[in-house]
Amino acid sequence: MKNTLVAAGASLLVGAATAQGIQIAPAGTTPTILGAAQNFSGHAAVDIQSAGNSRKHGSVGMVAFAPGARTAWHTHPVGQLLIVTDGKGWVQEDGQPRREIKAGDVVWIEAGVKHWHGAAQANGMRHLAIAYVKDGQSADWKELVSDAQYDAR
Ligand code: MN
Repeated sequence: MKNTLVAAGASLLVGAATAQGIQIAPAGTTPTILGAAQNFSGHAAVDIQSAGNSRKHGSVGMVAFAPGARTAWHTHPVGQLLIVTDGKGWVQEDGQPRREIKAGDVVWIEAGVKHWHGAAQANGMRHLAIAYVKDGQSADWKELVSDAQYDAR
C-alpha cells in the first residue's frame, strides 16, 4: 500500500513536468498570410501551423491556391511532404512534365530537387506542406514560374 502511494505521487510529479513540455497553439493564433509576390504567382493564402518552437525543426503550412496560382521555382534542403486536402493541382520537377495532384494524394519532394507546386488552371487546390529545417532554412526560393512554363505540358 505504501509503495502504491509513493508511485502515485511520483506519477503526479512527472505529469506536471510533462505538461509544461507540451505547448498548444489554439486555433486562430496565427493570422492567415498571403503568399509573398516574389515567391508565389496568383493568390495563395498560407496558414502557418506551429506551436512552441516547432518551426525550429520544420515549416508546416496549409496553403490554399486559387485557380492558376502556384509557387515560384524552389528547392528544399531536406525535402518536403505535400498532403493534398482539396481540389486539383500540379507539381513539376524541373526538366520533367508537370503532374496532376488531387485531394488525398501525398507527394514527397527530395532534397535539392528544383520544382513548383500549385493549383490547376481551372481548379483551386489546397495542401498541407511540411518542409524540414536544415541550418535554419526549409526552402531556397528561385525565379517565378512563367505563364508559358505553367501552361506547358
Ligand atoms: Mn516545395
